[in-house]
Amino acid sequence: MTESDREARRRIEEIGAHPWRQRIGDELRVGRGPAIPIIDPTDDTVLVAPATADADDVRDAVDRAADGAVAWGAATPRERAGAVRDFAAVLERHAEELAWLDTIDAGLPLWMMRIDAATGVERMRLFADLAHSLVGQTIPASAGNLHLTFPEPFGVVARIIPFNHPFMFASSKLAAPLVAGNAVVLKPSELTPLSALRMGELADGVLPPGVFSVVHGGPETGEALVRHPAVSRIAFTGSHQVGRAIQRSGAEVGIKHVSLELGGKNALLLFPDADLDRALASAVKGMNFAFAGQSCGSTSRVLVHESIAEEFTERFARAVAGLRLGRPWEEGVQIGPMVSRRQQDRALGFIERAVAAGAEVLAGGGRGPGDGYAVQPTVLGGVTPELEVATEEVFGPVVSIMTFREEAEAVRIANGVEYGLTGSVWTRDLDRALRVSRALEAGYVWINDTSTHFPGVPFGGVKLSGIGREESVDELLSYTQLRAINVVTA
Ligand code: NAD
Repeated sequence: MTESDREARRRIEEIGAHPWRQRIGDELRVGRGPAIPIIDPTDDTVLVAPATADADDVRDAVDRAADGAVAWGAATPRERAGAVRDFAAVLERHAEELAWLDTIDAGLPLWMMRIDAATGVERMRLFADLAHSLVGQTIPASAGNLHLTFPEPFGVVARIIPFNHPFMFASSKLAAPLVAGNAVVLKPSELTPLSALRMGELADGVLPPGVFSVVHGGPETGEALVRHPAVSRIAFTGSHQVGRAIQRSGAEVGIKHVSLELGGKNALLLFPDADLDRALASAVKGMNFAFAGQSCGSTSRVLVHESIAEEFTERFARAVAGLRLGRPWEEGVQIGPMVSRRQQDRALGFIERAVAAGAEVLAGGGRGPGDGYAVQPTVLGGVTPELEVATEEVFGPVVSIMTFREEAEAVRIANGVEYGLTGSVWTRDLDRALRVSRALEAGYVWINDTSTHFPGVPFGGVKLSGIGREESVDELLSYTQLRAINVVTA
């Protein structure tokens, strides 16, 4: 057993012994609903089984949020930003503990979870910095009178997040609605709730009563949150199927503002004049193998010009096959297990069906070693644009290579899916770079890069990839609605 195995063992025991409670208003409460086992994805054993929220827990969290939102919304943006900064500082002090929780809970490499922890805290500070962007306007609508607008908070915001960046999403996605003057009820994924539940404990005495609650549970808990009449703004990150279910449930009970950050089937377009060495490294980075490909922005379709396809494919497959798969706390591990047996089976199913339809496995293609949920990093060649693996989001470590002859054909293939989140264009020709970038049906495009999220630049998708933009001033303002006041003097 290595030193890191011993450290993991110790932390797994601590997780098992911890009284996992939800933050309901400013009360730490054991859930009153059924327990959901949290599984160690490295070996399929139960880590702990925290009780979930029942309908009363959800109702209490929202009611207390509605109470807390009154004073919080009346505070100045600067005061709210100060509290968010204080909370960011507390989380930063616990970053190592939070990173370990995500590593054990989600199976994601520790070095990457340390980066995620730092990113979450940095994004909280970004929204605190943007607090003074919460401005209205004076509008010269009529002579002699005053026409004013005020961006006002909604009150209670429900934040429902997926499993793939547990702490980074829980922390960063809390900040904008809070700075904008709302109280937040956060629901992490039932697969990976531990770091968010820990955040709820760490908020004690830092944030005012009611403004931050965490409820634990699956679809029923999410649904109860969405349907509560005091929740008028819902921000969801996850699959388009659940995004649609939320739109439907919300519409059944009222009019709700819903923003959706959904999946992707993102294309990397590689033209023959590109810097091939950089493109190759970036294509590996763009697949987010450190997340076992469980990343919405992954460039899981690589479209290569036929003149360089052979060289690229051979080198790319070699690079991917060389990635080190292992236990996520081990030094030097580049890819850990997937989050669940279900996700593992799902990814393997995509590979099997692709091969049956004529694709060729150029790297990986199978289950990882041991009882855990690992899938080998996989490269598929001979993929044609209409195959399931080329059109549906796998959300796993599976990348498809396709070839093209003409620029227009590459754009057509890239746009020939229902998703539209990210895109990556590789060329040294500036005209082409801009032309192709603007022709792509995608919300976030890199020219000669992949994967990087730049602070303050709006992130979000078109088509099935969602509604709304985050990580920017647009996100902050999306947690407000304008009130117009007309002062008539004559
Ligand atoms: P998911 O849609 O299955 O679940 C997301 C969250 O919704 C979880 O907390 C879940 O408990 C909750 N939920 C499930 N049913 C619900 C319901 N009926 N009402 C309310 N809440 C409900 O997604 P997942 O499997 O956790 O994550 C993977 C998906 O997330 C992928 O499609 C991925 O692309 C997407 N994603 C998108 C982004 C982005 O920024 N665009 C980022 C990360 C992940």
